[in-house]
Amino acid sequence: KDFRNNVKPNWCPGCGDFSVQASIQRAAANVGLEPEQLAIVSGIGCSGRISGYVNCYGFHGIHGRSLPIAQGLKMANRELTVLASGGDGDGFAIGMAHTVHAIRRNIDMTYIVMDNQIYGLTKGQTSPRSGEGFKTKSTPSGSIETPLAPLEMALAAGATFVAQSFSSNLKQLTHIIEEGIKHQGFSLINVFSPCVTFNKVNTYDWFKENIVDLETIPDYDPSNRIQAMTKLMETDGMLTGIIYQNKTKPSYENLVTGFKAEGLAKQDMKLSQADFDKLVAEFK
Ligand code: SF4
Repeated sequence: KDFRNNVKPNWCPGCGDFSVQASIQRAAANVGLEPEQLAIVSGIGCSGRISGYVNCYGFHGIHGRSLPIAQGLKMANRELTVLASGGDGDGFAIGMAHTVHAIRRNIDMTYIVMDNQIYGLTKGQTSPRSGEGFKTKSTPSGSIETPLAPLEMALAAGATFVAQSFSSNLKQLTHIIEEGIKHQGFSLINVFSPCVTFNKVNTYDWFKENIVDLETIPDYDPSNRIQAMTKLMETDGMLTGIIYQNKTKPSYENLVTGFKAEGLAKQDMKLSQADFDKLVAEFK
């Protein structure tokens, strides 16, 4: 099971997204998937390229729309393991409405956000995750907006799996992605993934100084939603680990009625080869 392909990523040397790519590849192998059992749908941004850098099905979608595509894919073929991925601009700005509703809908899939707190692909503008006072070309006097708190938002929206990790911690990140894939519902994994080219504030060293690993908190119980919210607020959202998991809520596809248990991809469409060829010819 080799999830590496021969496409050379064109991320800048040192970009945090390399570790996310490696962690996805390792996690997929560790949970026993074959490449044809995994699909990655991505949005737009530097991180959006990841769907082409893993040996599996890949779909590079449009800006902020990886989640509706990924959810449709999962409903159509429930045997696929579906990952969606993108950056904080993609998921928490233009795609925010999809993010909130995907969280509360709880379809069985995993969403990995590569959170670098800036827009990298467009050469460094303030994102919804940039801190107050953050200076870029779009906020030359410093951002005056409050940065979004995505994990608190996810908990409030009814998330069943909320986790956070850091590109420098490959072991933890791989483990969290494995657990996200195994979780029966929607998993949100926010990854601090530094942009070494444009973000000179939230650097690897900055994260190392500010991250609070859940393993350092005695008796932390990830099934306790109130404790999860409290600890996130106490640490200004800098917790890493599996912050919250509800293992009892069934996923959307297990609750919805009126659909066949198997997705469209597994249903007999009663279409002969001749009918199929005719359809294809019509759309040529
Ligand atoms: Fe990574 Fe930033 Fe370079 Fe984009 S611009 S590839 S986010 S380091």
